[in-house]
Amino acid sequence: MARIELNEVAHSYLPKPGGDSDYALKRIHNVWEDGVACALLGPSGCGKTTLLNAVSGLLTPSKGRILYDGKDVTALPPEKRNIAQVFQFPVLYDTMSVFNNLAFPLRNRGIDEGAVKERVLEVAEILDLTPFLNKRAAGLAADAKQKISLGRGLVRSDVAAILFDEPLTVIDPQMKWLLRRKLKEIHEELKLTFIYVTHDQVEALTFADQVAVMFEGEMVQIGTPQDLFENPEHKFVGYFIGSPGMNFLECTLEGNKARVDGTGIELDEETAAKGRNARGKLELGIRPMYLELHANSGDGRVKAGVKGVEDLGSYRIATLMLAGQTLKARLPEDKPLPEGEVWLTFPPKWTKLFEDERLIQ
Ligand code: ATP
Repeated sequence: MARIELNEVAHSYLPKPGGDSDYALKRIHNVWEDGVACALLGPSGCGKTTLLNAVSGLLTPSKGRILYDGKDVTALPPEKRNIAQVFQFPVLYDTMSVFNNLAFPLRNRGIDEGAVKERVLEVAEILDLTPFLNKRAAGLAADAKQKISLGRGLVRSDVAAILFDEPLTVIDPQMKWLLRRKLKEIHEELKLTFIYVTHDQVEALTFADQVAVMFEGEMVQIGTPQDLFENPEHKFVGYFIGSPGMNFLECTLEGNKARVDGTGIELDEETAAKGRNARGKLELGIRPMYLELHANSGDGRVKAGVKGVEDLGSYRIATLMLAGQTLKARLPEDKPLPEGEVWLTFPPKWTKLFEDERLIQ
């Protein structure tokens, strides 16, 4: 397995790119340590596949270098990089048995039959494919086929990394969950370097120990699922992670308070001090679950209108209006919600300040 380094990588599909907007990837600088399970998460078109293809060698980036364990592989094709890839649609030989599909990458490298058998049986066991070894791949369900694709990567003990491009897209929701858990188990057991592209936050957050959020060709934040939830460093991360996403309110600063129209919201001292140096557009951000709702006014509370409430089974989402701006609050099922008006507390610990979309740190 390898440590993978992206050194100022940028890519444009245009022959003569001009400004930033011509680039599908804009200056990506990052290191994936050996054995990490990392997800590349972002909406359609943000550059995830382009980046994965640059890592695998399907594409040579317009700028920058890619290093595997310090060795420059930027110009090497995939077959020279020792990586395994699992795509959206399983790649296998339908007419061959599961055993022969798994054995193929080893036989291809001239490994002797005894070792092939041993390794195939081992990998089939890990993936719960043992009962299917003599069956033809053609007759199997999509999840079993995708496990074979994964198995074809795992049989080789020398792969530098396994790259996954939306591998669960064609899998049923129930099977998706099982397969995701299986991938996590395999990673914990074998400590392989996994890079996993997805636009689904649940998939990314449950699978990976490190998530890189991509937005418009940039990695805007790399962190643990908890980091991304509790400390989003970019407005897009706040909005994209969590359901519903973070609330943002345009504001100005006055002493230690964020002013949202006529309303003053107390910030912690450090946040306010940093915010006073800001010259760009200021926004206050708070996750729906951290907003506290009260039936009465009180010290530090601000009044908001209740516009509606949605019951989502185990919790409810209230839509609130504060000084003409909309906010969402997440409430436990049993917490009463006053009609018409409510008073809010913004706990300073969870009330963040953003300048021009970036967290003020
Ligand atoms: P999706 O989840 O939809 O695959 P993505 O995040 O993987 O999206 P990419 O496929 O990497 O994004 O695309 C990034 C940008 O590059 C998009 O604007 C896309 O239209 C453009 N793009 C991708 N492939 C090509 C190509 N072969 N030629 C020209 N432009 C491309």
